[in-house]
Amino acid sequence: MGNIIDGKGMSEDLQERIKEEASMFTREHGRPPGLAVIVVGDDPASKVYVRNKEKACERAGIISFNYRLSSDKTHDEVVRLIKELNLRNDVDGILVQLPLPSHLDADQVLMTIDPSKDVDGFHPYNLGRLLMGLPTVIPCTPQGIMYMLRASGIDPDGKDAVVIGRSNIVGKPVATLLTLSHATVTICHSHTKDLDDKVKAADILISAVGKPRMVKGEWIKQGAVVIDVGITRDKDGKLTGDVDFDVARKRASLITPVPGGVGPMTIAMLLMNTITLAKGHVS
Ligand code: NAD
Repeated sequence: MGNIIDGKGMSEDLQERIKEEASMFTREHGRPPGLAVIVVGDDPASKVYVRNKEKACERAGIISFNYRLSSDKTHDEVVRLIKELNLRNDVDGILVQLPLPSHLDADQVLMTIDPSKDVDGFHPYNLGRLLMGLPTVIPCTPQGIMYMLRASGIDPDGKDAVVIGRSNIVGKPVATLLTLSHATVTICHSHTKDLDDKVKAADILISAVGKPRMVKGEWIKQGAVVIDVGITRDKDGKLTGDVDFDVARKRASLITPVPGGVGPMTIAMLLMNTITLAKGHVS
């Protein structure tokens, strides 16, 4: 694989370990760890993501409780379901697949999840703890990115890191985690001027935008570590990252592919968070 970070392989190894942990949990507590997955509406990409998450749960010995709600569900109906799940002893984690239909306020919905069941770590309580550097549920994609860096022998301490994207689910939490790991972090976004100059200075580049090949290979600093979170289909229908991979890989010391990089790690972290929450509920 040369300088390619094999997220798929790393995720498979991790999922084997998670399976052992899930089986140990089931033996000790007489029930498997449980994850409730809620999808509202019929966004095709969400359906694929959710199916992959459910299949991964099944392989790992985690029970998933699946709720497919029609797009006309009201805020009160979705909240009522979450409140029921908050009270159930067999549910350790609750995941609401985003995006939600536009009539639902995602922030308000996510805030209804009991923070001790907030498997994605999107509740303000958990995001606040993350910002403070306190133990918490870490959002899956940023956690997967940090895992890949560590597993590849990259220590962010003292490095110049550039994060492109400032969403609550990827950009901001990964920038926080890098800061907590003592990197010097620049956050870039849609209003950033001279993005190419910022990228050219990055020892570690994390791109989470969702625009195919917007990061030019020539921008990559020689020897940089490149983590490409973006997943979009290009005009030929091919899954593509934010980074112009073919040119970038010649300059990077390490780079993640799309697909097969960050995506599989996100799933592994979801399973890991479910087990961690389950252990917290029974201790
Ligand atoms: P988002 O739309 O919430 O955020 C995109 C960010 O990109 C914004 O902060 C915006 O300011 C920034 N941006 C837009 N245009 C830009 C430009 N020209 N220059 C610089 N910054 C620009 O998206 P998100 O939810 O953070 O996801 C980002 C991408 O990552 C998407 O492709 C998504 O599918 C992918 N994603 C992948 C995984 C995974 O597991 N692999 C998980 C989450 C998201």
